[in-house]
Amino acid sequence: MIVVENLKKSYAGLDVLKGINLTINKGDVVCLVGPSGCGKSTFLRCLNRLEEPTSGHVYFEDKEVTEKDINKIRAKMGMVFQHFNLFPHLTVKRNITLAPTKLGLMSQAAADAKAMDLLARIGLADKADAYPAMLSGGQKQRIAIVRALAMDPEALLFDEPTSALDPEMVGEVLELMKELAKGGMTMVVVTHEMGFAREVANRVIFIDEGVVKVDRPPQEFFANPDNERLRTFLSKVL
Ligand code: ADP
Ligand code: MG
Repeated sequence: MIVVENLKKSYAGLDVLKGINLTINKGDVVCLVGPSGCGKSTFLRCLNRLEEPTSGHVYFEDKEVTEKDINKIRAKMGMVFQHFNLFPHLTVKRNITLAPTKLGLMSQAAADAKAMDLLARIGLADKADAYPAMLSGGQKQRIAIVRALAMDPEALLFDEPTSALDPEMVGEVLELMKELAKGGMTMVVVTHEMGFAREVANRVIFIDEGVVKVDRPPQEFFANPDNERLRTFLSKVL
């Protein structure tokens, strides 16, 4: 579904990504881990062109991701951010319906109905007319996830979706992500939640020094970290 070839990204002399090669298959749940500052966010943002790669290629369903048609590709490859990025001046329902109606994918009535379905599914139908400021962090993040789902995406990218949450709210967000994974959603998740990686991912990838150092099923990833730098990393996060 997503093919990344020799992706490089530098910022003013700082080489962050030094040649990432990766293929993500339909239904994969890939957790990306690595030290702070190693380029995990940069990598996710290069996938949907929130950052322009310095060189290399990204293909989504066999089509190269370029500026052309980027809105269509972003609709199919939804993104969930650490800080939710809900529009504060719009109601929950309007947050969810804005993109599909603006892009002409749905009428307002159809988008409203879909938003209400999605909200009911996460038990937040009663918040449809609330504003983001009235919600807890866990509620905001679940609504941000549902907002991405409103576009019927083929894949979802998550950038540390639980890192900004109070500990008691992490579980409800991980639970929703787990349900999506079980439903077959293709997911790329940057996370420090090693329990989630172990339990839900089918691949765990360690990015370090600008490249993919390790790409394994979770059992092997955690049981036999035969890469020295991965061992050091795991000793700090586990
Ligand atoms: P991670 O998500 O793994 O913590 P990031 O992708 O955010 O890492 O950042 C990787 C490196 O690139 C860091 O050194 C960061 O300071 C740098 N960086 C990220 N975005 C920019 C930017 N827009 N301009 C300059 N440097 C940046
Ligand atoms: Mg980051």
